[in-house]
Amino acid sequence: MEENGPGFETLAVHAGQEPDSETGAVIPPLHLATTYAQEGVGHHKGFEYSRTGNPTRATLETTLATLEGAQFGVAFSSGMAAEDAVLRRLRPNDHLLIGNDAYGGTWRLIARVLDHFGISHTAVDLTDLAALERAWTPATRLLWVETPSNPMLRIVDIEAVAELAHARGGRLVVDNTFATPYLQQPIRLGADVVVHSATKYLGGHSDVVGGVAVTDDEEIAADLRFLQNAAGAVPSPFDCYLLQRGLKTLAVRMDRQCANARVVAEFLAEHPAVSTVRYPGLASHEGHDLAKRQMRDFGAMVSFTLRDGEEAALDVAARTGIFTLAESLGAVESLIEHPARMTHLSVAGSLLEVDPSLLRLSVGLETVEDLVADLGRALG
Ligand code: PLP
Repeated sequence: MEENGPGFETLAVHAGQEPDSETGAVIPPLHLATTYAQEGVGHHKGFEYSRTGNPTRATLETTLATLEGAQFGVAFSSGMAAEDAVLRRLRPNDHLLIGNDAYGGTWRLIARVLDHFGISHTAVDLTDLAALERAWTPATRLLWVETPSNPMLRIVDIEAVAELAHARGGRLVVDNTFATPYLQQPIRLGADVVVHSATKYLGGHSDVVGGVAVTDDEEIAADLRFLQNAAGAVPSPFDCYLLQRGLKTLAVRMDRQCANARVVAEFLAEHPAVSTVRYPGLASHEGHDLAKRQMRDFGAMVSFTLRDGEEAALDVAARTGIFTLAESLGAVESLIEHPARMTHLSVAGSLLEVDPSLLRLSVGLETVEDLVADLGRALG
């Protein structure tokens, strides 16, 4: 990226963040004010009321858009709020397509909230382009992609599905939560919108819930900006400050977390209690070559199934020490969870139902030998 301007790490530290012009402070100040003085009615310095716009949020939005290689970033109070805003652009009788292993909360919003407004959906295996083409209907307006997906870590060819969607007059949304813009930049590959649960790697420290939608399309950006203010699911200035701080170390965190995840995945692949390991960095993963092409590295999420089924999976999840049994992912500490009973409980009984012998790891920044030893003890 350097030949086209500053590199990712430089942008993560500096984009949109000049030293404060009054004090020289190298960190942009945290603006807590809810309202802004006007010199005359309608004459102000760009900010009126903090739901509509806030300088701390504006700085974060600039950095996030820049890191995704896009022009516009719109921040929300959670990943779900960002997704909700993107989906509110749909109208009654519209149809959307979603991957058959999308995050359970995304599926719940689409299947149990949007359906009240006459918006229908179909879940499809997005690694099968012929199946995707077959599922596309004249009413389909949107394709919703997660890659790597949650929790199966399937890899979807962003360029190919963007082309397919655009040829049919549709829009492509990519949930880039698992990859982050450091590993993958979907807008450059043809996506119309990128969404994130910023709660995960962008924040990176398990201390802030947030979301963002990024786009290069002026009309979509204007709609999202309108919805941000009209529906009001905005992040607090302090949450924006924490996210801004998290972004500065995103690249170094990802490098180490990816390296740790590779070691963990290789260890699990050799373990007799484990039947399958899902990690795009393993040559055995069906999306390995595509991931190599589309991503800088393979991410820090690893899923695996236990030979002895659900009870064995629940036992392992309860026995780890360094891997904390908890929902969420993407932070400095390693987590383990049982998707079928935790993050993906909302898809039980649907096409998106998860194998109950599956465990999902979010590999953190601890010493990798300690992580492997912890899993070894838990697996017995
Ligand atoms: N997208 C993915 C891939 C997620 O894993 C999550 C949360 O786990 C979300 C979206 C929703 O984000 P949030 O929890 O910040 O609302």
